[in-house]
Amino acid sequence: MTEKGLLVVISGPSGAGKGTIVKALLQKDPKIRLSVSATTRPPRPGETNGREYYFISREEFEQMTRDGKMLETAEYCGNCYGTPAAPIEQWNSQGSDVILEIEVQGGANVRKTKPASVGIFLLPPSREELERRLKKRGTESGEVICKRLETAERELGEARNYDYTVVNDTVENAVEQICAILRAEKCRTARNAELLERMQKND
Ligand code: 5GP
Repeated sequence: MTEKGLLVVISGPSGAGKGTIVKALLQKDPKIRLSVSATTRPPRPGETNGREYYFISREEFEQMTRDGKMLETAEYCGNCYGTPAAPIEQWNSQGSDVILEIEVQGGANVRKTKPASVGIFLLPPSREELERRLKKRGTESGEVICKRLETAERELGEARNYDYTVVNDTVENAVEQICAILRAEKCRTARNAELLERMQKND
């Protein structure tokens, strides 16, 4: 089976539970790597520079983008977010699957520039639950929550452009489904051209 790791994009509306699912996925399979994004958003309580994000200024962000150091960038609720390109290629060529937990504009960019990537859209179990989770988060002001609800609405409309949809009903189920998707993706014939060639030569 393919030795190169997969580039996996996980998107979904704020409140779908992406953070929780990704954390559980990394615990289940320590070989999976998570890309740490850069952002101009200020850190939330408990967030550490270099762990959740690289927290940088808008000037630094723009410089990195101009220097071609970002695989993709997007503006989300007034802040810039971007995926540093360097670690991705390195981890993939070492055989590690790399997860990008990014919003839908970034997802669309990656789909264009990296057509072999795998897009997974995470859905909350219901609309009511999505609203409840967004309000419960409580780290942000009413205005920000409102903006995130509006954005969530638009993001749900993007689900159809992803290869897979996974419902986050329980963490265990969602993680199991994602692992199954990754296993199946590695068996795709198109990803195993070299293996097939080697086999045929030995016939
Ligand atoms: P938050 O501010 O809640 O951490 O993230 C807001 C949104 O930005 C989330 O949907 C998150 O997945 C997305 N995001 C985080 N990092 C990146 C990135 O590097 N690129 C893009 N396009 N979106 C990102």
